[in-house]
Amino acid sequence: MEQSKLSSGIIFDIQGFSVHDGPGCRTLIFFKGCSLECSWCSNPEGISFFPEPLYRVSKCTFDGLCMNACSKGAISSGCNNEVGQLHFDRKFCAQCLTHDCAKACWSGALNIGGYEISAGDLYARINRDRQYWGRGGGITLTGGEPFMQPEFTFDFLKQCYDNYIHTAVETCGNVPWENYEKSLPYIDWIFFDLKSMTSVQLPSTSPPPVRLSACPPVPLILDNARRIAQEFPGRLIFRLPVVPGFNDDTANISATARFIQSTGRNEINILPLHHLGREKYNLIGKTYYTEDFIIPSPEDLHEIKQQFSSQGIKCYTGSETPF
Ligand code: SF4
Ligand code: SF4
Repeated sequence: MEQSKLSSGIIFDIQGFSVHDGPGCRTLIFFKGCSLECSWCSNPEGISFFPEPLYRVSKCTFDGLCMNACSKGAISSGCNNEVGQLHFDRKFCAQCLTHDCAKACWSGALNIGGYEISAGDLYARINRDRQYWGRGGGITLTGGEPFMQPEFTFDFLKQCYDNYIHTAVETCGNVPWENYEKSLPYIDWIFFDLKSMTSVQLPSTSPPPVRLSACPPVPLILDNARRIAQEFPGRLIFRLPVVPGFNDDTANISATARFIQSTGRNEINILPLHHLGREKYNLIGKTYYTEDFIIPSPEDLHEIKQQFSSQGIKCYTGSETPF
């Protein structure tokens, strides 16, 4: 494909040397934008579709340079706590193409999360990592939701696949089927999230409002999972983020196992809730509502694994994967 005809998209990170999201050693590419908003998301900077200011108050000298630089009037010094901090009106930031605020900030307090890149430039960037992938390694698209940028995802995956790079993607399932269709022939592995078999709310033990991954339109997610299981010839591994009190009950695990059986596939990777992403919520001015949620113990995970195994599903816990 001619490079000039390749589309562009928005990503927020590229990380090398990953051994958890596909076979071998891999480069992960994090796409901006997600159609769900899970309260426990460890990459909250991937939820917005737009590049956005990441503000680290501990580095701020409050000189106001960014406020003066922002032509949209999106920054104010609304001091709402003892140390004071800037307030960003993020609906204005979503329209910003220049990010003059970050350019004006010399202290490193303000950076922009996310940038536009063409599929050709992204390919050139990841191609440099080939040497360390070794046999079996490659790239994994994650985010955010890669299939919210279907043209960009397709153009990038096709280039990788045509150049013998192993391709894997992680998806939340909540996109129109057409967003998957064109890319499927160029993918080797899919990790498909099954967060819950029902549209449920998190328990109201956390401060309201608890945004849930929530009330996801489960029928769309399950329809996509069924269809991918049928039409995708590569390896499909379902994933369940184990969130105590939300989806770890016996009824949900059992329903998840029955669903996987019904698709004709038989693998799931359970991933325990963790709080490693909590600091990022401060950077984007959001509240981390799942702070008090307990992290599942190894015994809890073992019990869930046993339940899947008893229903004929191969269950891998955390990074204890077959790859
Ligand atoms: S990203 Fe743009 S709109 Fe938002 S604060 Fe910075 S300069 Fe203003
Ligand atoms: S320019 Fe940087 S250091 Fe100055 S007020 Fe803005 S964020 Fe703080």
